Amino acid sequence: MKIKKLISVVTTFVLTFLIFCEIKPLNKNDTVNIIVTASESAIRGDADGNGKLNIRDAAAIAISCAKGTKDKLPACADYNYDGARNIRDAAAIAINLAGRYSSKTQINFRFASKTDGIKLKLENEAYFNSLTQQNLNYRMKQENTTAEQFRKFAGEQILDFSTSQKALLFEVVSEIQREINKNGYELPLKDELIFIKTTAKDEIGAAGYTLKNNQIYLSNSFISNSGKNFIKRVVVHELFHCLSRSDPKFRKDMYKFIGFSIADKEPEFPAEIKDMLAANPDVEKYDSYATFTINGKKRACYLIWLINKPFSTPADDFQLRSSSVLVPVDNLTETYNLSDASDFWEVVGKNTDYVIAAEECIADNFSFAILDGTKTKYESPEIIKNIVAYLK
Ligand SMILES: [Zn+2]
Repeated sequence: MKIKKLISVVTTFVLTFLIFCEIKPLNKNDTVNIIVTASESAIRGDADGNGKLNIRDAAAIAISCAKGTKDKLPACADYNYDGARNIRDAAAIAINLAGRYSSKTQINFRFASKTDGIKLKLENEAYFNSLTQQNLNYRMKQENTTAEQFRKFAGEQILDFSTSQKALLFEVVSEIQREINKNGYELPLKDELIFIKTTAKDEIGAAGYTLKNNQIYLSNSFISNSGKNFIKRVVVHELFHCLSRSDPKFRKDMYKFIGFSIADKEPEFPAEIKDMLAANPDVEKYDSYATFTINGKKRACYLIWLINKPFSTPADDFQLRSSSVLVPVDNLTETYNLSDASDFWEVVGKNTDYVIAAEECIADNFSFAILDGTKTKYESPEIIKNIVAYLK
């Protein structure tokens, strides 16, 4: 769309919105006032500097663009993170505000700076304390790694997003939001999401991972080298972990779609399993189980990710030295390979082979459901159908 046309479309939309909301429309003098007095606001998009984001900000940007004075707008007017203050910011604000009226779920998010990200990461005491010696060693590729060494290492991996990465992720979230709006999905999303950039060296090179209810860590190499559609897929996958952690009922209902139930409490695994459990920041609890057929017998089992061999040299590949196993609920000393369960793939479905935990399997399915709906052909379409129906 030509810029002049975009300015006129946005201005018309904004003025209609102002009238709809019975807000006094801006006049010429207001605009001058906005430009002269607008100070830098901590709120993104707050172009008129009044401490809140509303349609007057879109109006201020649109009118500044029309008058050729957009360079006088404060830096926070760059709502879509593309490094420029222009009519596209007014359009993005207008779309966001319109979504608040019409959408059942609004994704709010921000980017953590490096300093902020380090602080947020290091506050995850429970996760750091859960890491066993083997997890510390594999993560730092060093024997006898101490918890303190690892914490320092983990903090050092946090980075600042570049302008182009922020603009790309803004588009990613906008497109996810469009899918949510278009399909009328309702997600139990309460918190503002925080994107944090990392090298992910402390998490075995993961593309993305989550902590707490709203921290989404994305690896620099992943967002620098992947296409937008793949990044979208991973962001929705990570969003699932945030929702699953913050809403136990949602988690329980979603796990059901891949045959898993949630126990009242977590199992007390014997030391040989506990010490070798491969830590995964996306999996906070090991309380889910499903029934599989092992040696012709139906057995309720936990699905866990286990380190098979202790760390010995930096060349040891974590992925090759770990695997998914089944542990029967009624005998925690037994472990079975996935291939020992004759109906493993019938139970969890065949849409993804990322099955290091039930949480990961359902997160992938959730991502397919949100982004593709039921129109794509799946090997296990009923899982996608159930998720879509649940979210409507
Ligand atoms: Zn995950």
